[in-house]
Formats: sequence, structure tokens, C-alpha cells
Amino acid sequence: MSAIKGGRISSNLIENFEEIHKGLTRSEAIEEANRCLYCYDAPCIKACPTSIQIPKFIKKIASGNLKGSAKTILEANPVGASCARVCPTEELCEGACVLNHDTKPISIGHLQRYATDWAIKQKEPLFKAGERNGKTVAIIGSGPAGLSAARELSLLGYEVTIFEAQEEAGGLNHYGIVSFRLPKEVVQWEVEQVKQLGVEIKTNTTVGVDIKAEEIIDHFDRIILAIGMGKVPNLGIEGETLKGVCDAIEFVKQTKIKDPTDELVGKTVAVIGAGNTAIDAATTAVRLGAANVKILYRRTKNEMSAYQFEYDFAKQDGVEFRWLTAPLKIIGNEQYEVTGLECVKMALDEAGRPVPIKGSETTIDLDVVIKAIGQTKHSELIEAFSLNHTKGVVDVDAETYQTSQENIYACGDCVFGNGQTEAMVVSAAEQGKEVAKAIHRTFMLQSEIA
Ligand SMILES: Cc1cc2nc3c(=O)[nH]c(=O)nc-3n(C[C@H](O)[C@H](O)[C@H](O)COP(=O)(O)OP(=O)(O)OC[C@H]3O[C@@H](n4cnc5c(N)ncnc54)[C@H](O)[C@@H]3O)c2cc1C
Ligand code: SF4
Repeated sequence: MSAIKGGRISSNLIENFEEIHKGLTRSEAIEEANRCLYCYDAPCIKACPTSIQIPKFIKKIASGNLKGSAKTILEANPVGASCARVCPTEELCEGACVLNHDTKPISIGHLQRYATDWAIKQKEPLFKAGERNGKTVAIIGSGPAGLSAARELSLLGYEVTIFEAQEEAGGLNHYGIVSFRLPKEVVQWEVEQVKQLGVEIKTNTTVGVDIKAEEIIDHFDRIILAIGMGKVPNLGIEGETLKGVCDAIEFVKQTKIKDPTDELVGKTVAVIGAGNTAIDAATTAVRLGAANVKILYRRTKNEMSAYQFEYDFAKQDGVEFRWLTAPLKIIGNEQYEVTGLECVKMALDEAGRPVPIKGSETTIDLDVVIKAIGQTKHSELIEAFSLNHTKGVVDVDAETYQTSQENIYACGDCVFGNGQTEAMVVSAAEQGKEVAKAIHRTFMLQSEIA
């Protein structure tokens, strides 16, 4: 078993995948809520992409109105229970808290979780669908962007059908983000909240395979593409087909759909990349019992796209970081299994581009290589809908998210451009809401609905 600091990692692999943070107790929540200054024109609201009325939901916790608190959160953010766990709060709401100048910011994420956990336990619907207005919308993809759009549209009276390729709805919240940060039960509850509004979710249905784009275009008044991104691309080096080389998203997914196995116990693992996918893959490998886990990145810590809290988290788990290191070749044995990785040291040139340093090649002995260098795009599907795109990123109007086709909109990771930092659940949720509002405006302008 790996040498982990902090004593969190157990030899019982199932325990390792339980949620790390246990949540606030009632007295902790009330004490924290009472620290809030309930600022007028609160900066935290502006810093939250979904503009949750943060002081309002916190005040409701302080007064014991947990249903009101949860409704305030979820009204603004249909995936607010997930966001309470995965938002980079230091960069968003908590980063803007005025108490940063004085003591420590209000733990907005934890309070948000306290209220939404209460709602999850009640198992009762919090919202009612609007009266049907006779218009239909197809949403492709049931991740945070698709779910958020679906929730808003059904409140406005639209008949919504979601097409989802996977067996379960929820997108990366369900299959991608590790269960020790986001248990799938939380995501399943958010999905249920959307379903109980009458939204039909057709799972195991891949658009472009099980149903053609044209069929959807013919049958629905409006279409929303919320398809996220694809798998992790290849590194483009020798040895990628060896046993022991895998895609980080697929690697994490396996731990979300079945109990962990002991295949990695005692193994040495290298994760290539330094974004949040790389951190999730590395900390998952640690929890599966790997003896040593290294993250290799061709640039420096300053350029990594993972957030500081994720970096700290991985460090706490004992993950080793090798900066300015790029893979050259994956080495295998006669059984076609990974045994090592040839790497080269890099230096950043004046333009900040990594360039290899001649003669610095070394070989690291290891058993597993996990690729975490971003995600491919769904260009084929985007083209099946005849949409303009830039290298697989759907071109949309910055305000309405309308694509080059009048009745088709796109939101979430599939409109997330290269060169930006990390895609976020909360931004996808906000874009889903914005798309719903934009669609509603078009019908209102045409006076087709009251
Ligand atoms: C490992 C990992 C860790 C992350 N950690 C965080 C984090 O801590 N905090 C954070 O804010 N963000 C995090 N993110 C990013 C976040 O998960 C995404 O930004 C967010 O999920 C995007 O939402 P989306 O709805 O656009 O796409 P997705 O969640 O990817 O959902 C897209 C859905 O579309 C479906 N789909 C695709 N093609 C088709 C098709 N042809 N037919 C039918 N359905 C289709 C997919 O199956 C999927 O369910 C992480 C991402 C990864 C990969
Ligand atoms: S959704 Fe995220 S950014 Fe917004 S208040 Fe909640 S934790 Fe903060």
C-alpha cells in the first residue's frame, strides 16, 4: 500500500472512495451562517456564475428554514448540490467574500452543501413544471448544461426530451468527477428533480448512431447541443497500445460504475497532464493502492490548469509532481505490458513554449501510464447538425448561445474554447439556464406563446 500522509487512505479500497468531507453538523452550520455579514450588493453573488442569492440562503440556514435555503440555491443553480462539492470556491464566491480581508471567508460551499443535503434527504420535489405551452425542445446530453437547460425550460412550460448516450444521466458529474469528491447519489437526485418535472430522459441513446440528427431536427421546435467533450486524445508517441496505458476519464469512470479492484496495488503510475482530470486520475490511483503516483507535465506549476486546492489535495495524497517533463516513448516487455516511460526535460522558450533539452532523456520504471491531456471534440456530430465550429468548439452567439443554425443552440463544454483555463460545472449550469431563457425569448418575440 502506498505511503500516504494524513492517514486517510485505508487498505479497504471501497472505503477510499467514500466522500472525503463529511459535511457540517447543525451547530457548525448555524455558527458559520451567523458569521455572514449579509452584505448589501454582496460581491459573492457577482462572483458566482449562477448568481445564487448567497446571503439569502445563508440567512435561511441561520433561521432554520432549510427548505427555503435549498430552494434559493437550486432556483439559481439546478445542479447546486453538485456545485457545493466541486466548485473552485476560492476562485469564485468565497474568493470574493469581504471577510477575506479580516478573518476567513464564509464557507459558502459547505453551507450550500448543508442546505442541499437536507433537501436530498427529504426526497420531495422542490419545483413544479409550468403549464405546457405546446413547444418542444430536444437536448442532446444530460450533463450539468443539459440538465440545467431542461429544468429551466420545463419550468417555463416546454416539453423537453433529453437524449443521453450513457446508461445513466448526469454527464461528467456522474461518470467523470471522482466519487470521493462527488458521490453519484447526489447527481442521481439532481437528475430525479429534473425528471419529476416531466422531462423525458432517453438514456443509452447516442445521437448520430441510434437516432439521426435529421430526425431530431424534423421533430422538435428547438434543439440544444450539450454534448460536452470526448475522450482523452492520444499522446502521439510509441507504445500507446501497450497493456497498462489508459484514458484518465475512462479510468475514473470504472471506479464510478463498479467496486474498486486491487489491480493497482503496489504499482507505479504516471499521469500525463496537469489539469483537474489529471488530479482526479492521480488521486484515484492512490486510492486504488498504487505505491507511487507521479504527475508529469511539460510546463511548470505556473502553467498547470488544475486549481491550487486540487494541487494541494494531490500533494496531501502523496502524488509526486515532475514539472518540465515530457513523455517520449512508452516502453513495454514481451507480454506487451508497460514497464517504463522514456522522458525528456523541457525548458520554456521566450514565448513560453516548452522545448526539449537535448541529452536530458531519462527512463522511469513504471507499470501504468494514464493520459490526461485534455479531451477531444465531437466534430462529427456538430457537423451532422451542419453547425459552424472552430476546431470542434461550436461557434455560438456570446449572449444567446445560438449556433449558425437558427433553431439550434449549444452550451457547456462543447462551446468551451481552447486557451481557457478549466471548464467548470457551474459555468455549464449557467449556460444551460441562459440558453433556456434565450429560447423562450424567441417564442415570446414571435408571440407564439403567452
Ligand atoms: C475528471 C474530471 C474532473 C472534473 N472536476 C471538476 C471540478 O472539480 N469542478 C468543476 O467545476 N468541474 C470539473 N470538471 C469539469 C466539468 O465536469 C465539466 O465542465 C462539466 O461536466 C461540463 O458539463 P456539460 O454538460 O457541458 O458536459 P458533460 O458533463 O460532459 O455532459 C455531456 C453529456 O453528453 C452526452 N453525449 C455526448 N455525445 C452524445 C451523443 N452523441 N448522443 C447523446 N448524448 C451524448 C455525454 O454522454 C454526457 O453525458 C471535471 C471534469 C473532469 C473530466
Ligand atoms: S454555485 Fe459554486 S460559485 Fe456559486 S455560490 Fe455555490 S459554490 Fe459558490
